Amino acid sequence: MEQVLTKHFADDRYRHVDAYVETGGYEALRKAFGMPKGQIVDEVRKANLRGRGGAGFPAGVKWGFLPKDLSRPRVLVVNADEGEPGTFKDRLIMSRGPHLLLEGIGIASFAMTIHLSYIYIRGEFVREAKVLEEAIAEAYAKGYLGKNILNSGFDLDVYVHRGAGAYICGEETSLINSLEGKRGWPRLKPPFPASIGAFGLPTIVNNVETISDVPWIIANGGERFAALGVEKNGGTRLVGVSGAVERPGVYELSAGVNLRDIIYVHAGGMKDGKELKAVIPGGSSTPVLRSDEIDVTYDIESMGKAGTMPGSGGVIVIPEGTCMVRALSVLMRFYAHESCGQCTPCREGTGWLSKIVRRIEEGQGKEGDVELLLDVCDNMMGRTICPLADAAVMPAQSFIWKFREEFDRHIEDRKCPYGNKF
Ligand code: SF4
Repeated sequence: MEQVLTKHFADDRYRHVDAYVETGGYEALRKAFGMPKGQIVDEVRKANLRGRGGAGFPAGVKWGFLPKDLSRPRVLVVNADEGEPGTFKDRLIMSRGPHLLLEGIGIASFAMTIHLSYIYIRGEFVREAKVLEEAIAEAYAKGYLGKNILNSGFDLDVYVHRGAGAYICGEETSLINSLEGKRGWPRLKPPFPASIGAFGLPTIVNNVETISDVPWIIANGGERFAALGVEKNGGTRLVGVSGAVERPGVYELSAGVNLRDIIYVHAGGMKDGKELKAVIPGGSSTPVLRSDEIDVTYDIESMGKAGTMPGSGGVIVIPEGTCMVRALSVLMRFYAHESCGQCTPCREGTGWLSKIVRRIEEGQGKEGDVELLLDVCDNMMGRTICPLADAAVMPAQSFIWKFREEFDRHIEDRKCPYGNKF
């Protein structure tokens, strides 16, 4: 399996510009400067590169949303917030291969006639922000950023902007507000960022991994990238596996890998020989799968048919013996805490979900509580400014639908069947 991103990540020197250039780094940027801009976008379209941040929107199509009018400057914002629980692959790129990201920013910016780019990184990523700052300084010093890059006549400035650690700032409009120095609250769409984004300017927001794939696509061609994956889902993708496996970590795999193989082949199987109970396949907001549902290809369409999604590539492996009510209670506490509070269904709904699941967990649940939970979910889904409410509802519904008997046992027995105490 060809490695698009991680081939040199084991080499500590690779995060520095000289080692990056030794491996062919910044050659794709040089090549891009000799290509018509439309052809660069076409290659990304042909690559079937789907956004790796969670939504899976085709990157080349997104780039095409910018207005044709070049009279207003445009902005490229790289979303490096990576706040989805269970997701930890972008930080690997930023810490081990920051020049991949910077070269991708250079190519994407040139293709879209953008001269200003921000990398919005979550505040907790202190080390990654430092590595990025150093890489940016190196790139300026070597002429890969700044004025007249590689004598192409093209100028580009890149800044790292550190957030303060709010989950909601991973949502693109909230991120833009935060970048502007405002409260990190999502905005109603339309207008979409491509027409009115950061500082009122047309803005494209792309995930770290998405942009980091671009140099390989330009160096090797969109069709070759597409062939590494499956139909409509080109290339490789980074999958972060956590939980009860022998070898948790980040794996670069074809978008066409089977979820069972991710767990049992790449991550070394279940830890200590335990049985698998459930899998949260793409970060905490994606619907959970039971152990008998994991024979599914890890692409957006196949996972969609299985009622879930690969999301941000964070596979959380749950072993036998785990109380699913407690697991959901932890998740619901997170979403209640992270709701920005603008929309009533989300502000109140996430709080209710958290409180009701908590009381069931603690053996204080009442008859009708499970129906109440599902009713609250129905009144949240699709009724809010941003998808955070949906992100809380999807795990809540799927945990109840697939592990209903555990919720009922807690209520009937007035205690946790797994012996958890409070
Ligand atoms: Fe804020 Fe929740 Fe509304 Fe999103 S859905 S804007 S997080 S209240």
